[in-house]
Formats: sequence, structure tokens, C-alpha cells
Amino acid sequence: MRAADVQSEITKVLVTEEQIRAKLDDIAARVVADYEGRDLLLVGVLKGAVMVMADFARSLPREITMDWMAVSSYGTGTKSSGVVQIRKDLDSDLTGKHVLIVEDIIDSGLTLSWLLENFASRGAASVEVFALLRKPDAAKVEVDCRYIGFDISNEFVVGYGLDYAEKYRNLRDVAVLAPHVYA
Ligand code: 5GP
Ligand code: MG
Ligand code: MG
Repeated sequence: MRAADVQSEITKVLVTEEQIRAKLDDIAARVVADYEGRDLLLVGVLKGAVMVMADFARSLPREITMDWMAVSSYGTGTKSSGVVQIRKDLDSDLTGKHVLIVEDIIDSGLTLSWLLENFASRGAASVEVFALLRKPDAAKVEVDCRYIGFDISNEFVVGYGLDYAEKYRNLRDVAVLAPHVYA
């Protein structure tokens, strides 16, 4: 992917890498305080949360463990199907664990509400959510999310882990994909 190609496929930057870094530090400080004296398991939702998990975990000046789950609800399109499939399950047993789910974005909320219900049945001591991005205007179900990075407009975004047809995950900022790319 040449730089020139990327520029023509992006209409605007919504959140910069610098803004993300600063926000992760703020949320990390809250998490450190909230989970004082308790073990913490971060669960990243593959693949979109890879970047936020990597940076967030390193901004936490405390011990954590990490696990990953892969679910799919989108295929290669830009609308949530609401049908969630587990592509890769957790390696760990959640019994008695304090779990913080790390997500890239809450759009319709369908994926997370499904995940929360799924995790509730596994005996975790607590389950909370950190989503880097949220589109309030797209919510179909309310999700109880303790930590939110940025509320953004209801547009399809890419970058910082977020893809369109597996591309653009390595963009450093979060940006709006030009509609001509998927129209
Ligand atoms: P939801 O179930 O809340 O509609 O979204 C499920 C998943 O779809 C998100 O975790 C994310 O991986 C993906 N998704 C939702 N909105 C966007 C978006 O604007 N851009 C990209 N690239 N993925 C999105
Ligand atoms: Mg996701
Ligand atoms: Mg995707």
C-alpha cells in the first residue's frame, strides 16, 4: 500500500495517535486506582483491539495478565450482522477473575453485549469494559462500559487496529474511510 493510495482513501482524521496516547495514560491511572489490591486480567478482542491492548497494557504500571478472544460479527462489510461467532476462545478459566475487556470500538453494541452475557456465565468475579471508541448514534443496545476513550460520529473508521477488509490496521491515527472505497 503506497502512501499516495492511503491519502485518497481517507477523508479525515478523527483521533490522532497523540490523543490516543494521552487518553490511554488517563484511563490507565483510573484502572490502577480501581483495581488496587486485585489481580487483573485484560481480555483483548481480536483483531481490532491489538493496537489498543499493546499500548494500554504498557501504560499500566502494574502487573496484569492478558488473554485474547476472536469473535466475528462483521465479515468484510461495514455493518454489524448481530450474529456473533467465536473464532478463538480464551485460553484462561475466568472463575474468580477480575476481567477487563479491551475493545476497539462500540458501534451497535451487539458484539459486546453478547460477550458480556457469555462472560457472565463463566464465573468471573467482575467483568468491565474499556472501549477506545464509541459511536453513540449507532447504539442498538446499551452496553455498560466503564472506560471509554472517545465518542465519535457515526461513520466507518479505520486505523489503529481497525480494518476494512483487513487493510488499514497499521494506520497510526483513527480516520474516516472515504465512502468510494466500499461503495
Ligand atoms: P458492534 O457489534 O458494536 O456493532 O461492532 C462490532 C465490531 O465491529 C467492533 O468491535 C469492530 O471490530 C467492528 N466495527 C464497528 N464499527 C466499526 C468501524 O467504524 N470501523 C471498523 N473498521 N470496524 C468497526
Ligand atoms: Mg472489536
Ligand atoms: Mg473488522
